[in-house]
Amino acid sequence: MVSDKDINVIVSEVIKRLGVETGSVTVAASRAAGRGVFDNLEEAFKAATEAQKQLVALPLATREAIIANMRKRAMERVEELARVGNEETGYGRVEDKIQKNKLAITKTPGIEDLRPAAYSGDHGLTLQELAPYGLIGAITPSTNPSETVICNSIGMVAAGNAVAFGPHPSAARVSQLAMTILNDAIVEAGGPENLLVCAAKPSLENAQLLFTHPLIRLLVVTGGPAVVAAAAKSGKKFIAAGPGNPPAVVDETADLKKAARDIIAGATLDNNVLCIAEKEIIVVEAVADELKKHLRNSGAYEVSARELVQLEKLVLDHKTGGPNKKFVGKNADFILEHLGVRVPPDVRMVLAETPPDHPFVVEEMLMPVVPLVRVRDVFAAIELAVKVEHGYHHTAVMHSKNIDNLHLMAVRCDCSIFVKNGPSYAGLGFGGEGPTTFTIASPTGEGITTARSFTRSRRCVLVDHFRIV
Ligand code: NAD
Repeated sequence: MVSDKDINVIVSEVIKRLGVETGSVTVAASRAAGRGVFDNLEEAFKAATEAQKQLVALPLATREAIIANMRKRAMERVEELARVGNEETGYGRVEDKIQKNKLAITKTPGIEDLRPAAYSGDHGLTLQELAPYGLIGAITPSTNPSETVICNSIGMVAAGNAVAFGPHPSAARVSQLAMTILNDAIVEAGGPENLLVCAAKPSLENAQLLFTHPLIRLLVVTGGPAVVAAAAKSGKKFIAAGPGNPPAVVDETADLKKAARDIIAGATLDNNVLCIAEKEIIVVEAVADELKKHLRNSGAYEVSARELVQLEKLVLDHKTGGPNKKFVGKNADFILEHLGVRVPPDVRMVLAETPPDHPFVVEEMLMPVVPLVRVRDVFAAIELAVKVEHGYHHTAVMHSKNIDNLHLMAVRCDCSIFVKNGPSYAGLGFGGEGPTTFTIASPTGEGITTARSFTRSRRCVLVDHFRIV
């Protein structure tokens, strides 16, 4: 015989199980669309604003657990993110994208980046804290799509914000995938739903809504000159991470073999789509031939004068004079194949000696076609480097053992990142010290953005008390 008590236990167990089933159906449905992916952006902004309020009401220990779980779950899917990013955009190399995503996951600072300041004296105690903005609008690029979503999400959520993403339309799938993985991790660790949101169909129009909507308190844009200009016109507080054209200067004191290896490593990471990647080599006459020999021995194919003419026709867009999109982020052997030159896949860079005003030098090519310009001496090299960097103040690289030359370059280039005697990516904390970012804000001056960049400074003053020294 089954007693009433037993029946109650069975019924409550059935209800519990049904509840669990219902819950998992709901989760499955929202996951099919992607957690945080909305057809209607107005609803997305409202949901994220609500989520942010819930986030700041949680204990900081929970926020820490959320950030830890975001890293954990993203790391579990890192190969998928790299593969989808490569398939969707056609840019870069899967193995390099794995490294870039891992860098964003492991070296983007979390809440430990937020340190309050305290002042105590005769008039009491003043505490200056780093408070969230609320909802941040983050525009992300096609060149580091999931990396930027991961990096921005960790930093912005650590600082107590929600984020409405405006991903590049040609990287919509991988950006949404990254965002969904992170949203799932947030909820799993006890955080609110919809802390990260975006439109189901990312477009320029949808991105522009972020620039005008009153619920967006801060804009953070990562991309080329057009999006930086659009943010500047928005009337909102904004952080802009714009284009770069990093020169790599090599003087006669450099370890040329190492300089060649480092330049190839930096300039070919993900086929040169990174804004910080070496875009042109400027070398002093005395060591130019020796450097070229080491570059050829380390994985570069140097084009002949005849091949250079063909290469210009191939990789430059005849209307704009800039890069031909078909070759942006492509492998060197793929580009060379179109010139009728067959090389093994371990050739990662196409080297071309050019005059200083050549389009390969002046344009941000974003492909592993790297020009080399020879100049009279180190002073001419530094002046040319400053000129072709176009005043972006983004990134510069130098290979030298001469402290005076390095100092002169540091002062003259005045860049957010200056790497000495290493590959450019050391400036992102990859094989170099310091935290990473995929949003290097040169135009607005934040440089390496981290959680604290996404905060407002608030002062809390207690008058005439708590001076305890
Ligand atoms: P992009 O400028 O084409 O697009 C970047 C983002 O801006 C995309 O989401 C795009 O949809 C949006 N956008 C473009 N024009 C817009 C407008 N008028 N209004 C609103 N949104 C607009 O750049 P990309 O090809 O994706 O990325 C490469 C560029 O980004 C390069 O110039 C590179 O140097 C730069 N970049 C800079 C950093 C940095 O940290 N400074 C990082 C990555 C890329």
